[in-house]
Amino acid sequence: MEKIMEKKIYLDNAATTKTRPEVVEAMLPYFTELYGNPSSIYEFASQNKKAVNQARGIISKVLNADEKDIYFTGGGTESDNWAIKETAEAYKEKGNHIITSAIEHHAVLHTCEWLEKQGFEVTYIRVDENGVLKLDELKAAIRPTTILISVMFANNEVGTIQPVKEIGEIAKANNILFHTDAVQAFGQVPIDVEELNIDMLSASAHKVNGPKGIGLLYIRKGLKLRSFIHGGAQERHRRAGTENVPGIIGFGKAIEIAAETMEERTEREIKLRDLLIERILAEIPYTRLNGHRMKRLPNNANFSFQFIEGESLLIMLDMENICGSSGSACTSGSLDPSHVLLGIGLPHEIAHGSLRLTLSHETTEEEIKYTIEKIREIVDKLRRGIIMYSEKVMDHFSNPRNVGEIENASGVGTVGNAKCGDIMRIYLDIDQDGVIKDCKFKTFGCGAAVATSSMATELVMGMHINEALKVTNKAVMDALDGLPPVKVHCSLLAEEAIHAALWDYAQKHNIIIEGLEQPKTDIGEEEVEEEY
Ligand SMILES: *Cc1c(COP(=O)(O)O)cnc(C)c1O
Repeated sequence: MEKIMEKKIYLDNAATTKTRPEVVEAMLPYFTELYGNPSSIYEFASQNKKAVNQARGIISKVLNADEKDIYFTGGGTESDNWAIKETAEAYKEKGNHIITSAIEHHAVLHTCEWLEKQGFEVTYIRVDENGVLKLDELKAAIRPTTILISVMFANNEVGTIQPVKEIGEIAKANNILFHTDAVQAFGQVPIDVEELNIDMLSASAHKVNGPKGIGLLYIRKGLKLRSFIHGGAQERHRRAGTENVPGIIGFGKAIEIAAETMEERTEREIKLRDLLIERILAEIPYTRLNGHRMKRLPNNANFSFQFIEGESLLIMLDMENICGSSGSACTSGSLDPSHVLLGIGLPHEIAHGSLRLTLSHETTEEEIKYTIEKIREIVDKLRRGIIMYSEKVMDHFSNPRNVGEIENASGVGTVGNAKCGDIMRIYLDIDQDGVIKDCKFKTFGCGAAVATSSMATELVMGMHINEALKVTNKAVMDALDGLPPVKVHCSLLAEEAIHAALWDYAQKHNIIIEGLEQPKTDIGEEEVEEEY
């Protein structure tokens, strides 16, 4: 047990995977000797074209697709963008309605949101408590103008595998195109695009032990989809840009191995996954499994631990050399822990205490047992209050007050830095006498940042601006009965944000507030808009 502590235990294979040595080996010659451009005429380069098409052949067989329908892209994100944006463009004469799910990857969700701004209508179908798409809602959402259903094959956070066959049948029966983001599923579960009536499918190499920056879009023959990336004639005029030859070779090799080893490998992973799930649920009280117990990816386990903050858990696991991930707190914005965890109906405070562990073919039973021990210890420590929040912090964190924005606010202040992970925006409604009548906030950051924002708004509400100016970070912290030391940095935003909002008010009303200096507002505005 002691020994493996020195080495890292990587349980974040849903984020990315280690490239297999056989894959690296297959790629290497294409950097060194076989570096030709596949479009060139000479024999030396045309070998590369052959190799690229061989990889295409391997991949198409695994999907039971025609090899001419596989297009290599720069990754899963590009494939999702291509499928959705170009379907919208090509079929807009037929209609402007798109159906997707509420728990898609951001590559799909943000693309759909962008299309909404262009005038398309999007319905986001909900999932049940296990993360399974509500098929009756899907059927009810279909309109004569529906042109596309885009539902992921398997979810990257909670691991739930969707009823893809049923979705494909519904799409076909209604003459609607069906796209699936299969980035998590490809190489993990059998996929047959014919049997499942899939018209478009996105996949990515780095999630299946291949290299990063190479993906594919399967496009069923006959679809009107045009290029998304314009330029040269590569990929049969549909995806311009010199082929990522080593990447494609690597993708082919990774899929070849994934397909050959699928049965045996996933059987082993399922055993370890179930050991992890069963022991964690049995040995740690107030714990739940997120995602469907059976219909889930062979390598995915996702838990919520009550009374715990996911970020602290991750940091402490990292100190034990265990890499996991959490769909909570700082990664996705305070009021929105993770759209997937909220989508399966978890309340905020439970979603904030979540942990995703995703296994690989290299994960050992010893590693899993060690991880279980460590999680048990850490959860226990956290619950005993080593990094424990006060009741008041917990209260303001799980039930934040004054969330939102004020239209035509007297003053608005935004502080923090998106890259650092914490941003706070405060809105003040100030009356003629200089009294704060209303105060609202939006915060991007961890639990402590939310709690301090919530408390700051409570404190300044009803105050005169001169009084509000004197509300310090320390006052906010004291009002919360203190914060754990590691979290103190989060609270530093409250004072700055109040000052920034007052400054904005003073500017708009052309007045001078004694003692108020121009605050620094050095934030990436674009990122704020994206993440809120
Ligand atoms: C990782 C992932 C993507 C993005 O793929 P990239 O190749 O990293 O761009 C899209 N969808 C899902 C479900 C993913 O897990």
